Amino acid sequence: MGNIIAIVGRPNVGKSTFFNLLIKDRDAIVDATSGVTRDRHYGQSDWNGIEFSVIDTGGYIENSDDVFEEEIRRQVQLAIDETDVIIFMVDVVNGITPLDEDVARMLRHSTKKVFLVANKTDNNQQIAFGDEFYRFGFSVYCISAINGSGTGELLDDVVKEFSATEIEQTELNLPKYAVVGRPNVGKSTFINALLEERRTIVTDIPGTTRDSIYTRYNRFGFDFYLIDTAGLRKKGKVHENIEFYSVMRSIRAIEDCDVCFLLIDAVNGFEAQDANILRLIERNKKGVVIVSNKWDLVEKENNTHKVFEKAIKEKTAPFTDIPVVFTSAINKQRVLKALEAGQAVYQNRSLKITTSKLNDVMLPLVDKFHHPSVKGKEINIKYITQLPTPFPAFAFFCNLPQYVKESYKNYLENKIREHFNFSGVPIQIFFRKK
Ligand code: GDP
Ligand code: GDP
Repeated sequence: MGNIIAIVGRPNVGKSTFFNLLIKDRDAIVDATSGVTRDRHYGQSDWNGIEFSVIDTGGYIENSDDVFEEEIRRQVQLAIDETDVIIFMVDVVNGITPLDEDVARMLRHSTKKVFLVANKTDNNQQIAFGDEFYRFGFSVYCISAINGSGTGELLDDVVKEFSATEIEQTELNLPKYAVVGRPNVGKSTFINALLEERRTIVTDIPGTTRDSIYTRYNRFGFDFYLIDTAGLRKKGKVHENIEFYSVMRSIRAIEDCDVCFLLIDAVNGFEAQDANILRLIERNKKGVVIVSNKWDLVEKENNTHKVFEKAIKEKTAPFTDIPVVFTSAINKQRVLKALEAGQAVYQNRSLKITTSKLNDVMLPLVDKFHHPSVKGKEINIKYITQLPTPFPAFAFFCNLPQYVKESYKNYLENKIREHFNFSGVPIQIFFRKK
């Protein structure tokens, strides 16, 4: 696991006050809707040089005790399932309430490390009030989220848990997928179809942008991170320029992922704006699956999907070696099939071909169709090798790399694609002097 803290507790104990204290002036991802409902807040912080993520599990509806209870229970379960350390917040002003008892009961049955934090201990006289909470059976920390007292001692002990838990390398190496596309094509619906319950965790993955949200998905034999751009939508004043904002979000998600699910609206087909996003994906050398969503709205005959696929590929040309899946996210139809395609593309993107195999296959094809001579000079390709890059790139060594024509480069790329499976993956080809 990563270094993730969840703050749980009944409303009004000071969870968000403490959350804000922790993340200081850093970026938090928050729900803009205030008032009746409140959603989770995510942020990053550090203490004694150890970085961690914080989730303020928020989410409740005011003035309805039933909903409170159920919602709080859901949040506590989420914290138990998905985080490493739980801060169970109560307050010394109100003392123990029935809701506190409920939360304590759930946490006692979990194996997670729990810190019971008695908040609103604004002065030393109040420290004695914290004593009653010892009966929950957790170590008690008296703090004041408002003036910060006691928080240093708490964090000293919290981060001790983290230095003990090393982040597993395998976990960082999991595939990272992003769902991108124009507004309204069904990205959120697609993500929700996958995640079912709205559970989102923050993980700090080195080398990636801070404010992407990574949700680990390991079900049905899949194991990967989904970059949740739908969550990012909630940041800041987004209503001003939704189109621009959605492009920014796509760029960030594309940069951070290995493979993109490019969602398009099946009814409208592959449009100019979809093409722009595809170019971005290509430029970033990321894998791609085209997901033609809202397939339920299309009137179908026998070969409709073939006709649609052909029409899409006419628009994506020259990059046509892309898997296309037709989904109905709203009916959860073929969403897992899209995942399978994503997984295959991820594997294709990391495919490494030995130099001997590559030369055995490609040199005869070079012989069969020679580069036409330029200014009376022969262009001879001597050998080919795949470069040790995270995306497929090939170096063709030849006598006159500067004369190689784009059309010949396309010929070579097509032949590579015919013989090796790079479906959904942009390929780089370089010509080098030998
Ligand atoms: P949440 O619902 O648990 O997230 O609680 P909030 O963070 O919104 O805080 C609820 C109320 O308690 C607000 O009016 C805060 O100003 C107040 N509060 C939070 N922390 C403290 C504290 O340490 N001392 C005092 N006196 N009030 C606090
Ligand atoms: P986003 O802006 O790309 O995240 O799109 P949303 O997920 O918010 O979906 C936009 C609208 O399309 C919503 O009204 C959805 O209910 C609807 N929608 C999403 N997926 C499908 C689908 O597969 N079929 C149909 N008929 N509607 C869908």
